[in-house]
Amino acid sequence: MSKPTGKLMSNNDNTAFERLRNQMPREAMSESDAKQEDLTPNWSPRLPEERIAKNFEEIKPPLSNVEAMFEAQRCFYCEYDVPCMRGCPTQIDIPRFIKQISEGEPIEAAKTILNANIFGAVCARVCPVEKLCESLCICNTIHEKPIPIGKLQRFATDSLMRSGELPFKREEPTGKRVAIVGSGPAGVAAAFELARRGHDVVIFEKDKLAGGLDRYGIAEYKIGDRFVQEEMNFLLQIGGVEIKTEREPINENSLAMLREDYDAVMLAVGLGMTRRLDVKGEDIPWSMDALSFIRRVKTQPLHTIPVGNKVIVIGAGNTAIDAATQAKRLGAESVIIAYRRGRENVKCTDHEYDISVADGCQWVWNASPVEVIPGEDGRVKAVKFRNNKAKENGEEEFFELPCDHFVKATGQVPYEWLTKVEGLKLYPNGTVRVDPMTWQTSVKGLFAAGDCVKNAKEVVNAVYEGKRAALSIDGMLTHPAGHTL
Ligand SMILES: Cc1cc2nc3c(=O)[nH]c(=O)nc-3n(C[C@H](O)[C@H](O)[C@H](O)COP(=O)(O)OP(=O)(O)OC[C@H]3O[C@@H](n4cnc5c(N)ncnc54)[C@H](O)[C@@H]3O)c2cc1C
Ligand code: SF4
Repeated sequence: MSKPTGKLMSNNDNTAFERLRNQMPREAMSESDAKQEDLTPNWSPRLPEERIAKNFEEIKPPLSNVEAMFEAQRCFYCEYDVPCMRGCPTQIDIPRFIKQISEGEPIEAAKTILNANIFGAVCARVCPVEKLCESLCICNTIHEKPIPIGKLQRFATDSLMRSGELPFKREEPTGKRVAIVGSGPAGVAAAFELARRGHDVVIFEKDKLAGGLDRYGIAEYKIGDRFVQEEMNFLLQIGGVEIKTEREPINENSLAMLREDYDAVMLAVGLGMTRRLDVKGEDIPWSMDALSFIRRVKTQPLHTIPVGNKVIVIGAGNTAIDAATQAKRLGAESVIIAYRRGRENVKCTDHEYDISVADGCQWVWNASPVEVIPGEDGRVKAVKFRNNKAKENGEEEFFELPCDHFVKATGQVPYEWLTKVEGLKLYPNGTVRVDPMTWQTSVKGLFAAGDCVKNAKEVVNAVYEGKRAALSIDGMLTHPAGHTL
């Protein structure tokens, strides 16, 4: 058996895909980012560097040994029905791993977790547990606090990562090669499962570093760059996975080449740009999309990130909360989150809503932006809103709120190039249609998983789907006759 290593495999620079790739243009900086670059020279940080660093410390600190033991021993270790497991998309055996912690075996507990969910360490930090596993914990029914499943999961997986020992071995190489487009949680989870089964995997990633939204999207006070890299290094010890970063984005032509060169191909491209509002003034300086703003928070020294004094964020999902709370933590004096509907319709969880309020963000309900108004210097000066409650009553009512920084978190849209892939069927919303059993698309040998299929979900869903697609690809490669096509 070949020794598993974390080293990259050799390049396949002579493939048809590589030849085409070298002829393609590089991705340009987005227009809104370019405008921001122009304006930053006049900007200075709103808070001292140390204060900003403090504001961005993790909001869920790890459990101590004593706390972990206490919480683990509170668990009922349910044997039947096990409600919390129903709340976990990856079906981790939660009672088992908590029992293992209570018996002083955190590394064994981590193995239980990673067997079901290879990204157990990141999920422990970012899962909205209040609407997943913990929401169904039996303790809720006896008016007790739920068992802190996420924190216990972190306690166990951190112990394993500290040991540095990956508890999986790569099987004998099969000689089969799989290409994956996108290195977010769906792509890397799939790559890991395929590599583990002896297949060679190449991930094509357009971005500078691997990780997808784990690296460039999720709030800095949940996970930082260093953790993402450490987890990636830990997992890639399995061997057999090469990640080619900073590549020209795959498109319909290069995808066709990949299909020629590899035994199977998987799309794990996530979603694309933020949906446009299509209102006057949307593109003026200091009006930007939330993903560009958050990306800066994730990639630049915190005290160098330009933030306005009066910020308005549009939206009510976790991206809006992340943009708003991070703007506040960078030192914005006031942050307003404006949403087109009422409190009862928000997409963020109660926990996220509470964080926004605790951070001092204010909410404005039933308000849709109709114009971003520039001042004399050309920058954002105010936003004009329509009152949607008044509209329901047949009246037209508008109001303006002053601001110097406007951020829209109006959801991401699927990539347009997918519509040009020959034979690829999409759902009406533009996401990729797959067979629910095999995760194969309408194109034979082309699979898909993650946000590009299920629209915006959570990391844990992407990990689950990546794994399911990988198992299906493995089935196709090793038992082609038995694979449902
Ligand atoms: C701001 C924000 C905050 C979030 N916070 C949370 C949270 O707290 N908890 C949680 O569970 N979930 C959160 N999510 C959701 C979560 O991040 C996603 O559901 C998850 O990352 C989806 O994984 P994915 O692998 O499908 O896609 P992504 O993570 O988006 O990865 C896709 C990858 O494909 C690459 N790619 C795209 N097109 C191409 C191409 N043509 N060629 C090559 N590479 C390409 C991209 O660069 C990217 O690296 C958040 C999302 C956002 C936007
Ligand atoms: S992966 Fe997420 S949902 Fe599943 S048990 Fe862990 S914290 Fe809960």
